[in-house]
Amino acid sequence: MSTSPAIRRYEELLFYAACLCNCWSVVLCVCVCVEVGGCRAGGGGSGRGGGGGGGGMRLSGGRWTWKLSRAMRLVLRRCRTWRRGYNQGSGGAAGELWSYAKLLLRSLYYNSLTNSDTALDCVFEPVYWIVDNVTRWFGVAFVSLVVLLTSSVVVIVYLCVLPIILSTYPAPWVVWHLLCGHWLLVMVVFHYYKATTTHPGRPPKDKSDVPVVSICKKCIIPKPARTHHCSICNTCILKMDHHCPWLNNCVGHLNHRYFFSFCLYMMLACVYCSISSRHMFQEAYNAIEELFKPSPPPFTFRETTSHKAIVFLWVLTSSVAVALGALTLWHGILISRGETSVERHINRKEIRRLKELGKVFRNPYHHGPLTNWKIMFSVEKPSHWVTRVLLPSSHPPMGDGITWDCTYTRKDPMAI
Ligand SMILES: [Zn+2]
Ligand SMILES: [Zn+2]
Repeated sequence: MSTSPAIRRYEELLFYAACLCNCWSVVLCVCVCVEVGGCRAGGGGSGRGGGGGGGGMRLSGGRWTWKLSRAMRLVLRRCRTWRRGYNQGSGGAAGELWSYAKLLLRSLYYNSLTNSDTALDCVFEPVYWIVDNVTRWFGVAFVSLVVLLTSSVVVIVYLCVLPIILSTYPAPWVVWHLLCGHWLLVMVVFHYYKATTTHPGRPPKDKSDVPVVSICKKCIIPKPARTHHCSICNTCILKMDHHCPWLNNCVGHLNHRYFFSFCLYMMLACVYCSISSRHMFQEAYNAIEELFKPSPPPFTFRETTSHKAIVFLWVLTSSVAVALGALTLWHGILISRGETSVERHINRKEIRRLKELGKVFRNPYHHGPLTNWKIMFSVEKPSHWVTRVLLPSSHPPMGDGITWDCTYTRKDPMAI
């Protein structure tokens, strides 16, 4: 495994740039410390010397800057001389010192497997660490936000919307709203709870007969097909789709169905709420507008609060319905194609690469749209569409998430 001289040169330059940045950081830290010390000394002096103390501090600051600038210039000039001497092969002691320092530095970081990607990964490691940890904490805040907003919508529906429906709507419509509203509420709560608390599944560490595709660089364990490492959960996830901050959990083999059902039923619940409260929203909005007129109607505090709550309910549910509708549609398309979000990116690259070679990419996990949906919901007979899709069910997904049936069910599978 040999790297080309150009790449080696590029890596060397990258390393020197990192060293230079570190040196500059150290110099800056020293400067700041010296300056703070100087300021403290100057402050003490001004107490004793009165007005003359300020002038003394400025003078000492100027002298200090001049000294530093001179020192840096000297160092740069000396480095340039050493470098020139070393390049011409007549460096003498300076050239020897330079080559010794270079050897010392290289012995610290040299690895035959190192490439530019690894070097860049190392440079950006602190950034990745910060992003991962911040996302982990954001996850807790996002889950709290989902629970808070959903609870507020449920409370508003029970206190402000349902009493109007019960008192003004005909009996069949009341029954419809009671059944539909509570069915959607149960489905949303059940699937959100299961999606957040069910682990997506990780590959076994002790099994040796696992069909391996690659080795995870972070976990140092074999990775089966469709398994990817999540840097936020810091583990490998079976059939990883993505890490969802709204669930504070990864979406993978064991909870993919819960995630999609939650998105679907939350979107349907939001559509239901915004459609069924649209007339009340119109009335509440007009009533709030009346309050800003010269002679506002004498609304009680309860009525004003109810109007504001209904406007909040409609704006929140209709905007979430649009946003979540787009997300659910996208995931629905991916399921129909037999892909996860991670595989979508990989497959797009593969489609482009094979197209340049005059070949067509075929997704090995695509069994036709209907079969893909059946696999997703573990539907084995027609009654499962009701018991496993339309009602809460905690049945496990098909397969173990380690081995995958890649044989095509059709004679001529469509390439995607
Ligand atoms: Zn891993
Ligand atoms: Zn994750």
